[in-house]
Amino acid sequence: MSRATCSMCGQQAETEEVPLTWGTSVENGRKLVYCDRCTRENVRNIEGKLDSVYW
Ligand SMILES: [Zn+2]
Repeated sequence: MSRATCSMCGQQAETEEVPLTWGTSVENGRKLVYCDRCTRENVRNIEGKLDSVYW
């Protein structure tokens, strides 16, 4: 059983499923998960990455 883990800070969710307050994004075919806090703090970065080239 693997719980959802934040790709940014490593925080683990209490369930396997990603909480609704968490955010997800797909980069290079890899699914990344961000906790509610990181989602809020990095929402601009995440959205910006969707349009930008890989770095
Ligand atoms: Zn986090």
